Parts: sequence; structure tokens; C-alpha cells
Amino acid sequence: MMLQQTRVESVVAYFQRFLRRFPTLDSLAAASQEEVLKLWSGLGYYRRARQLHQASRRMAGGREKQIPSTYKELIKLPGVGRYTAGAIASIAFGEPVPALDGNVMRVLTRLLALPDDLARQATRNKLQQIAATLVPEKNPGDYNQAMMELGATLCTPRHPACGSCPLRRLCRARDAGNPEKFPVKAARGKAPRVKCTSVVVRQNGKWLLLRRPAGGLWEHLWEFPTLSRSKQDLSPAEVQRRIGRMLGLDAQVKSQDIRLRHQLTHRRMEYRVFAATAIRRPKKISLPLCGPGRYEAYRWVADLDEVPVAGITRKILEEVRANLITRRHGKIAKLDGV
Ligand code: SF4
Repeated sequence: MMLQQTRVESVVAYFQRFLRRFPTLDSLAAASQEEVLKLWSGLGYYRRARQLHQASRRMAGGREKQIPSTYKELIKLPGVGRYTAGAIASIAFGEPVPALDGNVMRVLTRLLALPDDLARQATRNKLQQIAATLVPEKNPGDYNQAMMELGATLCTPRHPACGSCPLRRLCRARDAGNPEKFPVKAARGKAPRVKCTSVVVRQNGKWLLLRRPAGGLWEHLWEFPTLSRSKQDLSPAEVQRRIGRMLGLDAQVKSQDIRLRHQLTHRRMEYRVFAATAIRRPKKISLPLCGPGRYEAYRWVADLDEVPVAGITRKILEEVRANLITRRHGKIAKLDGV
């Protein structure tokens, strides 16, 4: 499930850490969602973590109390689609079913020089059917992994290494001299831009984080207070005023102008980031506020590892730290102890 839409290199460290903490189905099922998200923190597509957690609870609480061994049963679990069910059933249990990830789809559309639009579900269904006829009875897991590796290493989106490809004699797209034309995908509109203003508030060695609500992007993850999605840029004075009004927080906002971009699958986030120092820590932060909806909780943390956060939150903190080191009187001075 970690490998859905994510490269192996990015997953390895997460996988090892996850398995160390959750070596059994029961240990994962017994964990809190917050802890599962924390170990997933930075890997993206957090819905997978929540669904894996739900799936573990369903399996651990079921009659068998173990991971199902057939494609038919696996695909009933939360977060398990055709690719994941096919990969687990074939690799772990030797069932001759296909596992079509993006790499395999690319290989197949090139082998067949398939002119159909891969963005359409009908095309994916067709590929799934074709793929099912190709999986061997013997060692289907090896076959599926070989196809995935072929797509990842030789049959790459750009400049496929056809000269080294073991399938080159079968490949119609190579014969036609245009493998890069496949898979065919109808042009999609540009991902919309979303503008946000985030404030990194520090007080007495700790940062203020807020937890995003259920539903929507980054569900239940913690982030720096995000003030608006307004089109216009807010001035430091305006940010200070809004923080005061919305969080009930008396803070001094620095006039930093850190700009960050973060690309998601369906939108491009553009952040403007301010650093602020809270004059004092209020007893309570008022939560029905700002940002992408209503935040559901707040916490002061000394380390981002204390809670699950999205990759962008770490990126924001790194940028703020880098920007707070400024040259003053020919020396490098670190401001505010951040
Ligand atoms: S011959 Fe080229 S295009 Fe065809 S499958 Fe191999 S690498 Fe891909």
C-alpha cells in the first residue's frame, strides 16, 4: 500500500520503520490512528495510511485473524484496489493475477501500440483483461515484478531503452518508431493554484500546530496555522491582526517573505510564510477559525516528530529556519533561537 503512487526509493525507510513498530497485524490494529499517521508522515497520500489501519482492524477482528490470501478477498479491504490486490495475491500467495501499476500499463500500451485514452476507465478495464491473459501460472509474482521493473528501469516515460529491452521483438510501438507516444492520454486542464498564508508561531522553544479536520486534504494531520486562501498577499501587520483575532494569540510577526510551492496531484499549492513569536502562550487557543475549514485541536510542540505532519509542514519549517539566519553587521546571527 505504501508503494501505491510512490517510488520504491521513497518507501524503503518508511517501510522499515513501520515494520519495526508494527511487526504484526495485531500491533497495527491496536495502534491509534495518530501513531500510524506519524510513521507515515512525509510519505504523502495519507488516505492510504488510514485505510491500511482500517484494513488491519478488519482483518485482526475477522474470523481468520490474518491477511486474506486470495485476490477476491483482498480487494474487499479498505484501500486495496486491483493493483494492490494483484500484487499481494501474486507475490505473497502465488495466485496468477496481474498487478497493473503505472509502469506496467505503460509497458503494455507500448507493446500493443494501444491508441485508447488511458485516462478512461474503459481503457484500464481493457488493459486489466489483457494483462490477465498474460500472467503465467508458474511464478506469477516474479512475472509481475519483472513487468513493474521493466517499466521502472527500461520502458521509462521518456527515452525508453528499447535496445536493451527483452521485449523489443514483440513491441509494436518500437516497430513503429514512436514508443514515447504511448500511453495515449487526453490533455488534462492545468491543476488549479491554491494560495495560502502560513504562520510559524514560536513561543518558549515550541511551535504552535493545529490539526486539520476530518475530510478533505491532509485529514487529521498537524500544520502551522494557515490563515487564508485569499488571492491577495497579506502584509505582516494584517497577518498579525488576523492571528490575534482568529487564534486569540498575541504574537509579533516578522516581515519575512518566504514563498514556497508544493505540487499535489490535483492542485498546486502556493504558500507565503511568516515567522512569528508569541508574546505569551495563551491558556487556550480558540479553534473555530480560519484556513481550510475548522481546525479540531492545537498543540505546542518542540519537535515536528511528536505528531503526524505532511511533507509541506517540514518544508515550511526548513525554509523559515534557513531564512532566520541572516547576516547582521558582517556576522551570521540566528534570530529568536528558532
Ligand atoms: S521495446 Fe521499448 S517501448 Fe517496447 S516495451 Fe521495450 S522499452 Fe518499452
